[in-house]
Amino acid sequence: MATAPEIQPNALIEHPAANNDNNELFVEQVRLLFETRGVIAIGLVIAGLSAAAAWRLLPVWMVGAWFALYFLVVLGRLSLCHYQRQAADRDATARKWCWRFVAGTSITGILWGAFGCFVLMLPDAVYHVFAVFVLGGVIAGSMIGNTTYLPAFYSYMVPAALPAIVIMITRPDPIRIEMGVMLALFIAVLAVVGSNLNRSVLSEIRLRIAQGNLLERQGTLFDKLSKSEALMEEAQAIAHVGHWEFNQTANSFAASKEAYDIYGVDPATFQASLEMVIARVHPDDKVMAAEDFKQAMANHTSFRIEHRIVLDDGVVKFVHVAGKVFFDAERKTVYSVGTVQDITSRHAFETQLQFANSLQSAELEASPDGIMVVDADDRIISYNQRFATMWGVPPQGLATGDHAPVLAAVVAVMREPEKFLARVRYFYAHPLESGEDELETLRGQFIERYTAGLRTDSGQSVGRVWFFRDITARRRAETLLLHSARLDALTGLANRAIAVVALQRAITESKRGGKTFALFYIDLDHFKDVNDTLGHPVGDALLCAVAGRLQSNAREADTVARFGGDEFAIVAEGIHEPVDAGVLAEKLLSELGKPYLIQGNTIRIGASVGIDFHGPEAPDAESLLSHADIALYRAKSEGRGGYRFFTSAMDAEVRTRVTMGAELRNALVQDQFFLVYQPQATIDTGHIVGVEALVRWRHPKRGVVEPQEFIPVAERFGLIRELDHWVLWNACRQAKAWLLAGIAPLRMSVNLSGLEFKASTDLENDILAALAETGLPPTQLELELTETVLMDSSLKHADVFQRLRQRGITIAIDDFGTGYSSLGYLGRFPCDRIKIAQEFVKGLPSCSESVAIVKATIGLGHDLGIMVIAEGVETREQLDLLNDWGCREVQGYYYSKPLASTDLLPLLSGSGIIRVEGHTSGIGQVSSRPGQVRQMPSEALSPPAGAGRPA
Ligand code: C2E
Ligand code: CA
Repeated sequence: MATAPEIQPNALIEHPAANNDNNELFVEQVRLLFETRGVIAIGLVIAGLSAAAAWRLLPVWMVGAWFALYFLVVLGRLSLCHYQRQAADRDATARKWCWRFVAGTSITGILWGAFGCFVLMLPDAVYHVFAVFVLGGVIAGSMIGNTTYLPAFYSYMVPAALPAIVIMITRPDPIRIEMGVMLALFIAVLAVVGSNLNRSVLSEIRLRIAQGNLLERQGTLFDKLSKSEALMEEAQAIAHVGHWEFNQTANSFAASKEAYDIYGVDPATFQASLEMVIARVHPDDKVMAAEDFKQAMANHTSFRIEHRIVLDDGVVKFVHVAGKVFFDAERKTVYSVGTVQDITSRHAFETQLQFANSLQSAELEASPDGIMVVDADDRIISYNQRFATMWGVPPQGLATGDHAPVLAAVVAVMREPEKFLARVRYFYAHPLESGEDELETLRGQFIERYTAGLRTDSGQSVGRVWFFRDITARRRAETLLLHSARLDALTGLANRAIAVVALQRAITESKRGGKTFALFYIDLDHFKDVNDTLGHPVGDALLCAVAGRLQSNAREADTVARFGGDEFAIVAEGIHEPVDAGVLAEKLLSELGKPYLIQGNTIRIGASVGIDFHGPEAPDAESLLSHADIALYRAKSEGRGGYRFFTSAMDAEVRTRVTMGAELRNALVQDQFFLVYQPQATIDTGHIVGVEALVRWRHPKRGVVEPQEFIPVAERFGLIRELDHWVLWNACRQAKAWLLAGIAPLRMSVNLSGLEFKASTDLENDILAALAETGLPPTQLELELTETVLMDSSLKHADVFQRLRQRGITIAIDDFGTGYSSLGYLGRFPCDRIKIAQEFVKGLPSCSESVAIVKATIGLGHDLGIMVIAEGVETREQLDLLNDWGCREVQGYYYSKPLASTDLLPLLSGSGIIRVEGHTSGIGQVSSRPGQVRQMPSEALSPPAGAGRPA
């Protein structure tokens, strides 16, 4: 196997510098070759002379042709010289030019060789000597220019001499042979001399090149040096730094231009010296400067001295002198060097800064607030003593600038640390914002906190300042003042100022927690008459009595105030809805309207109330007061003895509902309610298996009112229990009446409002009493409760329902699917029936969501073993779908609307099957024709005496 040749790295890499030098040498050689125009021209002269000498010896044509040729060659060579000088790229094409030159020399050599041959052909030996002499001469002469480049020399010499030597040594004549040998020797000597000459020419060229480079480099260095000196001077001028050096041995001092400038002297007219420098030191600083300098000398260290100097024109400057001193072996200073800097402006700035700083800290300390300033990274920049004492902050916490220990110390004494921290975090996150709030410490201090983000002109955050002001004393004074000023001298109620404070608090609370509140403005009607007729003492006593009644009807938390005269106000914070405000106003009016017995006089006096109800959108306290005042004015102008809300929409709504509340109360007493019954049937047989009792109100003016309108009002006005109680008794009575009339036992479903369960043990007793007194078997009673009611009460009252179920009463979940989405309560609260809400049945079959819910509910019922009834079935299509999905019972207009008992009776007393004429499946719609109704015994139909007023 062949091994790879060993590579010599150096052999592959030509030394660029060497290469470069050789090239430069060659170029220079060629340049010198072409500078031999004179030598070439002299050659022509010699050729002319030689031709003239040979003119008579040789044939004229021969000599003439030779000279003509020679002349042409010289012409050619001279023009070569000319073009070479003109050529722009002559250095780059030096090699080409060189060969052209060598061609010229060799042709010239050949011509001389030919001339020698011509002459040597003559028989006379004298002519041979002439030939040898001429050839030796021209070859020796050619050394002048051609030895610069040896190939040029040889290319001339060899063709010129060789033919003559050969001709002579090949002659049989010993003299001629000797002459030939001598010529050859002479030529050899010339060759040696030529090569020596060449060497010395080359070394001279090399020397010249080297000198040239050196000069060039020197020039660049010099350039750079002067440039950097200029830069240095510029930099020194900008920084106001000059440098100086002092040679102690030679006692010479030198300084830069800037140093001269600093000392205010002109270098053209003034020679700087150490004395000059010392003379300009400010008299007050002389001792200090000398001391500092001496110390540096003693310690052999470099020195830095700041002192003032006074210039000739009296100007005072601050300078910073720094330097180093050099010693000889005997510790004598020999040399020192250093800088001097004009620091006047910096010094002025520092002084200003110091001044500003001390002013700032004086201000900080003088402030009554605890102040802390932090930078953009929340590191403590400054603080005052009051801040540290206020929070008992450990001094090391402040010293390090780390805010964490400071924060910890403050948080430790906060009454609501989380709230405090939340605020701090907020401001960390919003560095440019400002804000204020109030803090309370565990020691009972009240601190007002104000903070502002610090910013640059361009709006960039640079830090934050925190102010803490102890307002404990102020708060105490306020509280004291409030207590003393709190009471209205006559009635002992709050005064107007306190009412305003309470109102402001209500507004703040409302904005914070979204709570609603109401302001009542109350004015007595015709109070002036009381004063005028019965005298002021009686008037005063009446006002006190009014105050008492207001106070006792308001809640503890409410603020009851007298604004002066017969004007009162109540700020009530626990009012959730306008209706509640209306109810309270009614109550106040009715209480105030009751007669007063004062000093033997029975006084009747009415009042008017103006109300402003608000939530978080509430305006300021004064606006609220003026609203309530306007509302009061309206109440008075519209007939007194009533109340008005500030907004008319609120007023109208509240008024109708409050009026309805009063009417409902009356309706119960006057027996204005009646029941209708809606059948519930099985899908497969069409049998009526139950009815739902639904209440109606026969309003004396409005006619029949639907439950949706009055049930919510009954609930709000606390009448629902009474109403449901009435329904329960009458429904049970009706069911019992049907039983007595021989109708097969029917399930009687009764709706119960959620508010029933507030007193559920009473409810339980009520139900049991209704069943016992009417004699209706419990198994025939079903209670309908909504999911919401169940969820609210299932945990508390599960046992009540459990006991009722144990007695055979069934429980149905009304409007299933509209309340809680969690079905967990079905497990916790066992029930007997689920009523699919009519809003889902209504969606059948088009609404896919309804389809899914209805199907799922039916499936759920099957899984849990709970009966399912669909409400609000209106079409045959809905009925068929429910049947297909496995629902067994339905209720809805498809079969029957809720009917009066008299209208329902014919259906029940017949087959009990709701049928449509011509319908074969047993499923059909009701057709109540009066002619088909079988008359029931009258006592069975009419509720027993006192049905509307259950015991
Ligand atoms: P509810 O318990 O969901 O009663 C069913 C309501 O749906 C009844 O309205 C009934 O007339 C109506 N309804 C039945 N089938 C259809 C139908 O196919 N299509 C349509 N569009 N509606 C149908 P009503 O009688 O106006 O009762 C309304 C609500 O008033 C009841 O809803 C119930 O929550 C309440 N309510 C009625 N009577 C009483 C009562 O005596 N006591 C209590 N606490 N609430 C009652
Ligand atoms: Ca119901």
